[in-house]
Amino acid sequence: MKTWDVGIIGGGVIGLSLAWRLRHSGVTVLVVEKGEPARQATHAAGGMIAHCDPGNPPELRELIAASARMYPAFVEELRAEAFESPDLRCEGTIAFPADDEQPRCEGARPLSDAELSQLEPLIARRGPAYFLPECSVDPRKLGSVLEKAARTLGADLVSGSGVKEVAVLAGRATGVRTNKAYYPAAAVVNCAGAWAAQIQPFGLPTHPVKGQMVCVVPGKVSLESAPSSPKGLSHGPLLRHVVRTPEVYIIPRSDGRMLLGATVEEAGFDKRVDPDTVQHLHRAATAVAPEIGHMRIHDAWAGLRPGSPDGLPILGATSLKGYYAATGHYRDGILLAPITALLMSQVLTGQKPELDLERFSPLRFA
Ligand SMILES: Cc1cc2nc3c(=O)[nH]c(=O)nc-3n(C[C@H](O)[C@H](O)[C@H](O)COP(=O)(O)OP(=O)(O)OC[C@H]3O[C@@H](n4cnc5c(N)ncnc54)[C@H](O)[C@@H]3O)c2cc1C
Repeated sequence: MKTWDVGIIGGGVIGLSLAWRLRHSGVTVLVVEKGEPARQATHAAGGMIAHCDPGNPPELRELIAASARMYPAFVEELRAEAFESPDLRCEGTIAFPADDEQPRCEGARPLSDAELSQLEPLIARRGPAYFLPECSVDPRKLGSVLEKAARTLGADLVSGSGVKEVAVLAGRATGVRTNKAYYPAAAVVNCAGAWAAQIQPFGLPTHPVKGQMVCVVPGKVSLESAPSSPKGLSHGPLLRHVVRTPEVYIIPRSDGRMLLGATVEEAGFDKRVDPDTVQHLHRAATAVAPEIGHMRIHDAWAGLRPGSPDGLPILGATSLKGYYAATGHYRDGILLAPITALLMSQVLTGQKPELDLERFSPLRFA
């Protein structure tokens, strides 16, 4: 029977980037994915690498800054291995902060009305605004590029059947069991996102936090008649920058799509899309840039962010020997994927992680 050094539960951005990074260290890896890889929160995400957002938890600033710095090299490495790129855009963000919130990151600067009009002539909103030196990626592309790169490097992936439990023998994890099979592994990492709590003998305390999002496109495509992928869009985006306001954020993609997001809702595992919410997001974005009102709604969806009890990720060894956690990334899993993969691969290969993970330990919930 084949055995692996590490069995990863969940093939979202966190599980896949960890598998990919571990393969760089020569570790044998199996990812067990319940559905299809990268089709849950990762698929739903906007993809902002929002390291300047003043709303980021202070405890996370070091990890966030390190991960944002890693992004260009991370994407370049993936491109070299998978021959595809996840649409990394580093035009920057225009942020209209709430109240007196001030972004704190190198390169952030206030914008005068004249500079704002020069940077984005189509933005009608006025008020205190900042330029932030942030990037964004397309998380759907990132998911497929990570899967391809991980497989190219020799990671194994089985999908279509979820892990029911971590197998335990003599007080340590020995692999994972699905309804169909047992997969032996010397170490197991729970990367099951919003579902991480459901795994026996004990899960990690994540809970789903619903986010609804809308995609608008130029041209005459309606939500009812839209093809599943807006291939053939070649206009380029209406706005160059990501735009963030307290009511809505707008994320341009290079192919002309614009994503409008997102709600933050405690709704259990409900992923239904509410038509009123879609209209509300479209109206809020139109108030920022009136041209968006002429764009067609192409698609709308909801995803489940993996929230944790204190809003921080859950990273490191659990109380069961050989069983680890890399989950609970809540609103920042795309941003935090490169640093999570690096630090967790260091933990799993017996090295001291180059940033301290103590405050993110699963043991804080014991
Ligand atoms: C609307 C929205 C917008 C967002 N925008 C951003 C953003 O702009 N920037 C940012 O950084 N983050 C953003 N996020 C957050 C980000 O999407 C998440 O933090 C990130 O995707 C979490 O990745 P993950 O791999 O932990 O979870 P997921 O992507 O959900 O992956 C978990 C995987 O585990 C699988 N799984 C579950 N149970 C089992 C089981 N028992 N056995 C095997 N597999 C299992 C699931 O099928 C899934 O594929 C957003 C999220 C949402 C919903």
